[in-house]
Order: sequence, then C-alpha cells, then structure tokens
Amino acid sequence: MLDATNLLSDVFGFDAFRPGQAEIVEAVCNGENTLAIMPTGGGKSLCFQLPALYRDGLTVVISPLIALMRDQVRALKASGVSAGCLTSGNTEEESDEVFAALRAGELKLLYLAPERLAKTATQDMLRRANVTLIAVDEAHCVSQWGHDFRPDYLRIGQLRQSLQVPLAAFTATADAETRQEIVGRLFDGEQPTTFLHGFDRPNLTLAFQAKNSPRKQILDFADARRGQSGIVYCGTRAKTESLARALTEDGHSTCHYHGGMDPEDRRVVETRFSREDGLVVVATIAFGMGVDKPDVRWVAHADLPKSIEGYYQEIGRAGRDGAPADTLTLYGADDIRFRRQQIDEGLADAERKIADHARLNALLGLAEALTCRRDALLGYFGETEITCGNCDLCETPPKTFDGTTHVRKALSAILRTDAWFGAGHLIDILRGTTTDKISQRGHDQLPTFGVGDDLDKREWQAVFRQMQGHDLIRPNPDRHGALFMTDKARPILKDEASITLRRDTIVKGRSGPRVRTLVSDEDAPLLSALKAKRRAFAEAQGVPAYIIFNDKTLIEMAEKRPASLDDFARISGVGAKKLQNYGKGFLDVINGAETETLHPARRKLAGGNAGSIYDRLLDAQNRLKTGESGFDKPITCSASLLAKIAETRPRDRTAMTRILGDRRADRFADAFLEVLADS
Ligand code: ADP
Repeated sequence: MLDATNLLSDVFGFDAFRPGQAEIVEAVCNGENTLAIMPTGGGKSLCFQLPALYRDGLTVVISPLIALMRDQVRALKASGVSAGCLTSGNTEEESDEVFAALRAGELKLLYLAPERLAKTATQDMLRRANVTLIAVDEAHCVSQWGHDFRPDYLRIGQLRQSLQVPLAAFTATADAETRQEIVGRLFDGEQPTTFLHGFDRPNLTLAFQAKNSPRKQILDFADARRGQSGIVYCGTRAKTESLARALTEDGHSTCHYHGGMDPEDRRVVETRFSREDGLVVVATIAFGMGVDKPDVRWVAHADLPKSIEGYYQEIGRAGRDGAPADTLTLYGADDIRFRRQQIDEGLADAERKIADHARLNALLGLAEALTCRRDALLGYFGETEITCGNCDLCETPPKTFDGTTHVRKALSAILRTDAWFGAGHLIDILRGTTTDKISQRGHDQLPTFGVGDDLDKREWQAVFRQMQGHDLIRPNPDRHGALFMTDKARPILKDEASITLRRDTIVKGRSGPRVRTLVSDEDAPLLSALKAKRRAFAEAQGVPAYIIFNDKTLIEMAEKRPASLDDFARISGVGAKKLQNYGKGFLDVINGAETETLHPARRKLAGGNAGSIYDRLLDAQNRLKTGESGFDKPITCSASLLAKIAETRPRDRTAMTRILGDRRADRFADAFLEVLADS
C-alpha cells in the first residue's frame, strides 16, 4: 500500500501495521473524512501521524490532554519528525519555536488544545498555514452527554468548514449514540468512512480474587512485579494514602493520588509516573485521564470498580505498548453493597439507576464468572469470537458445586425474617449459632435455624457474596443494608431454576508469590542492562524512558540479541533516527565488547537490502583495488559512492559510469553490475 509502508519502518521503526491500522491510514492518506473507533492501546496516533507525514502541508491535531500531546510531540521529535504543540503548558520559548517552524513551513504536525480554537488569532493562523488535514483525538469529548464533554470541541466542526480540509476523528468509546453525536457535530451529519475495531487487548492478563486479606493480596501482587510500573486503584481517598504507605514500607517506590490533593502535587505525581521506571501510584479513578504512559506493566483494583465500562477503561491503562501486562481486581460482599448503595443514594433518575445497576451486574458477572473472563468481558461489548488463554480461569478453572439448595435456604432465611437483616445474622441463623440477637428475636425457633451447618461461616459468606453477584439479593437502602430478595431469585426459590456456584479458593499466605518476568530467566539480566542503558539515555535527554524505546522493543532486543546494526535495525520500534542515535549504545550492551563502527553512509542503509548490497560492493572493490593482477595502481570508491550505487542500482555500464567516472568504471563497473544482477 502506498509509500506509507516505508514511512512505517523508516520513521516509526515498525515492520507491520497492527490489525486495522492499514485501512485507516490508507483512507486518511487519501483525504477521506474518517471516524475510527479503536480500543486504547490499539495504535490510534499512528493512524494520523503517518498520513500527516505522507501528505503535503500541515496536520492539526486536537486533543484534550496536554500531557499526552507533549509526550507525542517529544516522541515524534525523537523520531526525526517536525512537530510542535500549543497548549497552556508551553513556555514562551517553546511557543516561539513552534511559530517559527510554522512560518518556515517546516512543521508537519501541530497539536492544539481545544481551548485555543476559541481565539480568533488561532483561527487566523490556521487559515494562513497550509493545513491539509485535521485529526481529532478522543473525539467523544464532543458528546454533551458523556463524562468527558469539552465545550470547545464544538468549534471543531466550524474549523473544518472554514479550512475545507478532510477530518479524521478517533475515539475508544464505541456506543452507537456517541458515534451519532460525533458524526453530527464534527462532520455536519455527513457519514464519514467509519472503522470499528475490536475491544480485545490480548496482552492483558485478567484476574479477579475474592477479598480475603486484601492488603496482603495487593502487596503480594506488587511484590511479584517489583520494579515494574503499576497503578493500584482504590475506592476511597483515605485508602490510597494508607495503602501507599504500606507499599512504601514494603520497599516499593510509591506515590498516592486523589482528587482532594493540591493540583500542583497531583501534577508532580503525574510527571514522576510518566518519567520514572517502576513507580507505583495508588490512586482513586481521578488518576487516568491525563496519564499516557505506554509501559504500565500492571493495574490492580484494591476495590471493586463502579461498572464494567469503568473496569475496562482502568485495566486498559496497562500494557499500551503491546507487551505483556497483568491486572488483578479484588472484590467482596462489602464492595458490592457499597456500589449498590452508591447508585441507590445517588441523584440520578430512576431509569438511570436501573441502567447503573445493570452495568454493575455485568461487572459482578465477570467477577463471579465460572469460565473464561475475556469471554464475559468482550461478550458484554458484543464480541463473540474470542480466543483467550490469558485469564486466571483459563489457567485454573474454578471448582464449582450445585448451589441451588444453599441459595434456597438463604432466600428462605431472608423471607422468614421479613428482609430486615444483613448477611452476618442470616448466616448465624442458617448455621444454628445461638447469639444474643438470635435468642432475643426468637430466631432459633425458625424452621431455617441450623439447616445450613454443612457450610462454615466463610463458605456461607462466599454464597451470599455470589448471590449478590448474581443479583438474587440486594441491600435495602432504607433498612441500613438489610438484604432483600430480587425478582430474579424467584425461579430458584420455586425450584424452577438451578444455580452453579464457585468454591472460593482461599489465597494462601505470603509464601513467595510467583515472580512475573517479561522474558525468560536467561534473558532477564540482559533486559535489566538494556533498561539501565535506556534510563541513562532518557536522563541525559530529560525525557521518559519509553520515548527512547518502549518495553516491547527492549524485550525483543533481549531475546533476539542483534549482533550488528543491520540486525538491530530489524527490531520492531527501531527507525532510522533511533538507529543512528542509540544503535551503537545498545549494541555495546548486548555484545559486551565494542561493536563494529559503521561508516555513516553505510549506517543509513542498515537493516535493508541496500545494506547487504553495499557490503558486497565493498568486497568486490577490495578484491579489485589493485586490479585483476593485483599489481595495478590502487583505486578505491568512497563510502558515499558505494552507498549511492547500492541505493540507485544503475542498470547498465553507461549509468554506472555516470556515477563512478571513467577511471573507476574501468576497474569496477563489471564486478559491480554482477553484484547488482545477483541481488
Ligand atoms: P492509542 O490507540 O491508545 O492512542 P497509541 O497510539 O498510544 O494507542 O499506541 C499504543 C502503542 O502501540 C504505542 O507504544 C505505539 O508505539 C505502539 N504501536 C502503534 N502502532 C504500532 C505498530 N504498527 N507496530 C508496533 N507498535 C505499534
């Protein structure tokens, strides 16, 4: 397809498009209006960055996230692309530099915060610049009903009309309503070429655990991933602070983050997180929107998220670079009660509350799933053909039992006590435990008293939690959390339906969690050394480590161990500019001793066919340096001459002579033509 594939490898260092990217890039390159819906980490930015380079003129990128824009500009510059951004975070110098590049007509990508569109000066400037494409990131921000509405996004449609250029919109939010709004507001109601891509993130490991000793569960999980960047999400602000302290005491480099903190302190955490390797941030969901770090290696939920959409978005912050990343979500009966209460006591109207309960139910279904989690998760988003093998249930299928009788006994205990009690008291009734409360109320006289002594207290708690998870019972907001039976439970009570429950596997003590490494034991020391080298480069340049190379590229280096610059250039993520800047540094780490130093003219050809042609031309030249006889006057060709022949591949003697001149052609032309004919 087009010459775009060359740009993909030369500038970005990727040897292939990710699924779906090629079609989008082609449409955008061709100047079609496009709307692409891709999951987080799917590689959206490439879908406008590459066309921006392919097309003449300037591409304007509108994005709501300043941190993300600045990161992308830095990354583009590191790849040798002329890019700049205009945001409130700019220093005067930075802005001057952008304006100068604009005036000189050098800039290929200009990132703009939406607020800038409100200024007439900006609109005038854009009209004067040779804008040929508008790209809109996070296009769902145009939706007035969504959570992320940005009023200034409403100006983008106008801008498109006044500049009369194609527009490419990107978002990870797929629901049909939002899509409709985007088409209405950005494209004036005219349907753009639309791409809808799958929601699977195969590199993320999905796992849930019932809360047992939650703090220890999180500490264990973090311990097995020591030194890797991670996020722990908590339900409350206070908990972010206490859990961060516990992780710090356990030797992790940790910060906490929540909406109640001073904006300046929050910014410090965001910056540290994006720059440092291996920082753990313990946060409420306030942490996320402004964070764009591709090498987050794990996300843990210390409390149950609010909904399945929230869960998907939060775990989605891990592993955006495509390298393996792990997630763990803890949940317990208290979490479920808390989330239900939050909905019931919220200000939303009745219809909205019903929808919110349903979204929570979907998440609980995922938590209590008996088979593949990915199936349950993607099934919710309407996807059917799913291959997993990367979730806790695929790895270890849960032990299950027919819970119908137990559930009926529990329901009956609720009914006989008029739905006035919580799980603790109901379990005492079922197990026949005589407490003061039981005696006072005469509950030891109930027919259900003691009918459930085949399960211990913990097992009954698991049954009650799962009943909540299956939405058979709910806390009554007017009765301080007393449980009542829902309509969904009636068929089980009437013996018209059965239910399978899981036996909780209790997570055992902290006896050495399995350490998660990204490469085999054999390659692990090399990966650490490569990371250290990366850190040195990053610190010297004052940029985040992943701007140098992302984890996936480093892992491939550790596994393939390239021995030469040619091999190095074939590693995914290594483009021409990075090869030149960092190739030798990393090769020295991999190969211990000093690696060969290539002539700059030869280095430019590294990794491609022209590189090996160059080497063979050089051999031929060395062979013939003193003629066939070996006694003639020595003649040589310069490195750039050889590179020119390797690149332009002159077809015949005349063309060859034009490059070499008569004297050199006499000596080398035949041999060189032979080399070219063979390759
Ligand atoms: P998002 O869709 O969330 O905006 P990004 O554009 O940030 O995703 O891309 C996520 C990661 O995927 C980045 O680290 C990027 O370098 C990488 N990536 C994008 N396209 C490719 C590709 N064709 N091959 C390999 N890695 C890619």
